[in-house]
Amino acid sequence: MKRIAVLTSGGDAPLMNAALRAVVRKAIYNGLDVYGIMYGYAGLLKKEIKKMELGSVGDIIHRGGTKLYTARCQEFLQPEVRAKAVEILKEYAIEGLIVIGGDGSYRGALELTKLGMPGIGIPATIDNDVLGTEFSIGFDTALNTVIEAIDKIRDTAMSHERTYVIEVMGRDCGDIAQWAGVAGGAETVLVPEKPIDINATIERIKRGHERGKKHSIIIVSEGVGNAVEIGRQIKDICGYDTRVTILGHVQRGGSPTATDRVLASRFGSRAVELLCEGKFGHTVGIIKNEIVDMEFENALKMKKLSNSSLAELCDELAI
Ligand code: ADP
Repeated sequence: MKRIAVLTSGGDAPLMNAALRAVVRKAIYNGLDVYGIMYGYAGLLKKEIKKMELGSVGDIIHRGGTKLYTARCQEFLQPEVRAKAVEILKEYAIEGLIVIGGDGSYRGALELTKLGMPGIGIPATIDNDVLGTEFSIGFDTALNTVIEAIDKIRDTAMSHERTYVIEVMGRDCGDIAQWAGVAGGAETVLVPEKPIDINATIERIKRGHERGKKHSIIIVSEGVGNAVEIGRQIKDICGYDTRVTILGHVQRGGSPTATDRVLASRFGSRAVELLCEGKFGHTVGIIKNEIVDMEFENALKMKKLSNSSLAELCDELAI
């Protein structure tokens, strides 16, 4: 293999730049030419392709966002559009493609692999919802952003003796909520994997108040439903001063944590090695601190579910 390309696609994660840097540097280290494709699959179709040099990825390891920009591309669901994408890649003599993104982006890379354009995936999603890895890049950074916010909200919750419902990201996978619940000392967490039991939640808050607790923090994944409505129900039933904070897109940005930067560097490096070894159609991942890889088909069988033992731990510790 002489020439590869890399793109970032789908929802952004704070670590895409660090992974991009690792791919470009490792490819050049291995004597490959490497091209960057702007705006994901949409930019590929528009031939927004440029040669990357060592300096192209200088000074980005600590920056959030993605230097290549990211986009969604609905057209890519059409087989003839994907065939055109392969033609374009071949026109540039590109022999392999590394896709940094979530499960949707993997599906695109899988289809390109089937058409003879070898693809490798790097899991980048703050929701941590793809299979084949215990952690996706961006998750740790997003989690730390959430913890910083919870700590600040806890100060005001305490001063005013309020109950706070905090909505965090996580459409199908409640990992951010579960980890934030434990690390942020929440009363309880509500995640999409488990049916919501508002009465049990209210009971927990009341028990806390009865033993003298003046403030409570409830973490809700966005996939659970309407956090404002949950806050209203708590207020109506308990009568406690209840506020709702939706953290939103602040969770997608910011300077990546050291853990995430190391993970992104390991993933980027392994992705290039896999292409060089001729092992295509795989995603890289980390399991028990070992870098592993898995076929796209297996990684796409279902969404990864969150670790429910953390929700139990959160409940136990907030007794
Ligand atoms: P993410 O990668 O973060 O999960 P999306 O689900 O939006 O984000 O997917 C990103 C892009 O991947 C889509 O805009 C589309 O271009 C491509 N894609 C998603 N699903 C498929 C599919 N089934 N076949 C081909 N391409 C797909």
